[in-house]
Amino acid sequence: MSKSNNPKILDGNALSKQIKAKIKGEILQDFPQSEGKPALAVIIVGDDSASRIYVNHKKKDCEECGINSYEYALPAQTSNEALLELIEELNADNRINGIIVQQPLPASIDVLGINDAISPWKDVDAFRADSIGKLAVGDYSFLPCTPAGVMELIHSTGVSVSGSECVVVGRSNIVGKPMAMMLLNESATVTVCHSRTRDLAEVTGRADILVSAVGKAKLITADMVKEGAIVIDVGMNRDENGKLCGDVDYTAVSEKASWITPVPGGVGPMTRAMLMKNTLTAKTIQDKG
Ligand code: NDP
Repeated sequence: MSKSNNPKILDGNALSKQIKAKIKGEILQDFPQSEGKPALAVIIVGDDSASRIYVNHKKKDCEECGINSYEYALPAQTSNEALLELIEELNADNRINGIIVQQPLPASIDVLGINDAISPWKDVDAFRADSIGKLAVGDYSFLPCTPAGVMELIHSTGVSVSGSECVVVGRSNIVGKPMAMMLLNESATVTVCHSRTRDLAEVTGRADILVSAVGKAKLITADMVKEGAIVIDVGMNRDENGKLCGDVDYTAVSEKASWITPVPGGVGPMTRAMLMKNTLTAKTIQDKG
């Protein structure tokens, strides 16, 4: 990839708008009646302010696409059993096509157990443990939303993933690991870094495509990035002034990258667009029986 002092911005707001418009069109055509539209249940536990913002964004996206959304707001002291009961009810509810439980959850909740309690046909976040396995063997109904959104952004550059050196920083079950798998499925050579990686800068400096999903402001500095790399910033942090920012030192890294995602307006809106896509897919699968 060639050097660029004038990087192209990977505009997640614009791309997600196009994707949502397509979803809206398909829903209008296939499900014209209000009661027959795809429906998403959104469970939020506690009063985390960032979670509240994300849930409100998801509800707005549903409205935009013509998806019915139902919110279940539970108090922070909700027991694991009560949450499991609600998920069981929603699994059995034919009105509901997709179920998500907004994370992070209070420490008392068994997150992996909750993820696995959601019906595989309604698991539109693709957080179930078997979703990672299905992704590995290429036999899945839903792709996890954040990595799927990142892939859409990468594809929009026109740069081929096949054969490229890709480095993913972060190895969480919901972002880093599935991200690495999806890049591998497209024939990239993939390295995954984490908190024990010995020389992070040496590894990230090899990346044609660098994806950071850590949650630390300014972790990725310009000296860690190869000239002309595609840089995707999944991180969502607050800087010293309380302003939303990613993991990447955006201004300095922009000088070296060929393409870069801003925060906000990069990966976040793409994640939500992929959730809308998965909810429509869930409805279509369930209608086929
Ligand atoms: P986790 O906290 O689950 O994972 C963070 C990962 O970063 C871990 O694997 C950790 O390593 C690694 N890490 C921590 N410190 C370092 C370091 N100094 N060097 C290298 N690796 C490090 O976070 P998530 O995956 O859930 O989320 C990551 C970020 O992405 C957060 O900011 C989150 O808010 C954001 N996010 C954004 C979304 C969006 O739509 N834009 C969606 C989901 C998340 P180890 O495993 O060794 O501890």
